[in-house]
Amino acid sequence: MRCRTWRSGNVVLLGDAAHTAHFSIGSGTRLAMGDAVALAEAVRTAPSLDEALARYEGERFAVVERTQAAAAESLGWFARYHRYAGLAPPAFAYSLLSRSGRVQYDGLRRRDPALLASLERWYAEDAGAPPAVVAPPPVLTPCGWAGRPCPTASS
Ligand SMILES: Cc1cc2nc3c(=O)[nH]c(=O)nc-3n(C[C@H](O)[C@H](O)[C@H](O)COP(=O)(O)OP(=O)(O)OC[C@H]3O[C@@H](n4cnc5c(N)ncnc54)[C@H](O)[C@@H]3O)c2cc1C
Repeated sequence: MRCRTWRSGNVVLLGDAAHTAHFSIGSGTRLAMGDAVALAEAVRTAPSLDEALARYEGERFAVVERTQAAAAESLGWFARYHRYAGLAPPAFAYSLLSRSGRVQYDGLRRRDPALLASLERWYAEDAGAPPAVVAPPPVLTPCGWAGRPCPTASS
């Protein structure tokens, strides 16, 4: 749900009353708490209520829009689930974890280096690399390693 504005006179909306995002990214509680913190801070520091509400809305609108965009990406992933359902488990896991665009390759490495290293090893070995090799990132994995045929456009 999107509202053009979250305020009217001395009435202000926050949390689910002001905005929602698709539940597949589980963001509603955090957004509502973030709104409350920003509103309290704006009321504490702004010279007038009107300015406080304008400041609150200006600060939080962008955050909510970014979250709603990520939620829409996540919703799209689930809508296209049949495309990913047949992937090998490591590729499926990466696709699922990066579905909203908020967590991507480097972000996943920061959050869970062991998981990313295991994904890189799996990718390299799947491409024919010997298991002992320190795996390069997938983008630098040679095509046709160890004499394996390179995938064609149709495969
Ligand atoms: C099944 C389910 C699972 C969810 N899972 C997650 C999750 O995993 N992670 C996550 O981040 N979010 C999750 N959410 C979303 C999250 O619960 C909401 O986004 C969040 O609670 C919104 O907070 P809020 O304060 O805006 O609204 P609410 O928590 O709905 O609070 C509004 C309050 O206002 C009260 N109220 C309503 N009308 C009146 C009235 N006329 N007078 C006085 N009081 C009134 C209500 O009783 C309620 O207590 C989930 C929601 C549901 C329904």
